[in-house]
Amino acid sequence: MEKIRYFDHAATTNVREEVLKEMLPYFSIEYGNPSSLYSLGRRSHKAVELSREKVAKSINAMPKEIYFTSCGSEGNNLAIKGVARANKNKGNHIITTKIEHPAVLHTCKSLEKDGFEVTYINVDENGIINLNELKNSIKKETILISVMYANNEIGTIQPIEEIGKIANSNNIYFHTDAVQAIGNIKIDVKKMNIDLLTISGHKFYGPKGIGALYANENVKFDKIQDGGHQEKDKRAGTENVAGIVGIGKAIEIAYKEIEKNNNNLRYLRDYYVQQIENKIPYIKINGDRIRRLPGNSNISFEGIEGEELLYKLDIKGICASSGSACTSGTMEPSHVLTSIGLPYKLAQGALRITLGIENTKEDIDYLVNTLEEIIKKIRNK
Ligand code: PLP
Repeated sequence: MEKIRYFDHAATTNVREEVLKEMLPYFSIEYGNPSSLYSLGRRSHKAVELSREKVAKSINAMPKEIYFTSCGSEGNNLAIKGVARANKNKGNHIITTKIEHPAVLHTCKSLEKDGFEVTYINVDENGIINLNELKNSIKKETILISVMYANNEIGTIQPIEEIGKIANSNNIYFHTDAVQAIGNIKIDVKKMNIDLLTISGHKFYGPKGIGALYANENVKFDKIQDGGHQEKDKRAGTENVAGIVGIGKAIEIAYKEIEKNNNNLRYLRDYYVQQIENKIPYIKINGDRIRRLPGNSNISFEGIEGEELLYKLDIKGICASSGSACTSGTMEPSHVLTSIGLPYKLAQGALRITLGIENTKEDIDYLVNTLEEIIKKIRNK
């Protein structure tokens, strides 16, 4: 069995040791329900509130504006359905983009069945939206703009500050799915006029099964799950205390180390791309080369079928992705790659590499050499 070399950090990450250490007591000795009034419960409550402060601080929000959820998908559902339902007296129009994660796209599709109208704006060949198209899509019925911060497949970063200004000056709520951006990009929700922002713990060395939604204190949104009064009556269900402690610790470390980590990720990613360009012909680099996440590379290899490539890389101990993890079980070309105008053949041959803090230059050399060997063999078949 080959040593595992992990290049799929946009799919998920391992829980850091320091994070796990802080979480562990909340699985065993500190098992109180945060809603219980005795001291065992109060200690859990305190841990939850301390984590809320850490999450809030990392994006310049107030603790009361943070709602813990079970994942990024739930955060997106709560933000979009919550705002739509609470503001339907003002209008029924939502604007989003064609390259959102399914947790946004399918939520919008579901709202269309309930009578909402959704405009899905385009992206250019680099994967960036056009601000004029956004402005022209606004109607008097528009209540929400939802544009992802950074794309999970091609890593492109949208002009969030400009979108925030447009939304704000038109009195429209602005939500951003920041699941891929958190920990990689410094975010100031107040300065950027972001009204709602989705976070997921497992993308920055925190645990799976925990997320958070930031909602500005002035945003009107409905709960989408009925039950108890947890999370200021916006998210029923006993809190995942260990997960909440984990997401707080993970986000705190991510932002403490952001500069050092990003410099390293950018260096390794650029080295990888340069090596591929030098060694493998007939490739296409997907997504904007500058406005993208530091550890993301997405390259199409002509004449290659992504699934076959992934299978052969796996035999060599390499974990990567041919598209979004959530769609890689199907043979459909990725909606993101087709939205940037990639022909079917090139979309099928895309390989997403997303680097993380444990990757080294030696890992990249192994990856490039293995890719060169496999691609040569497939092309010569
Ligand atoms: N949004 C984006 C951009 C993502 O990349 C993902 C997961 O890959 C999600 C939302 C969903 O997050 P979760 O897996 O926590 O539900």
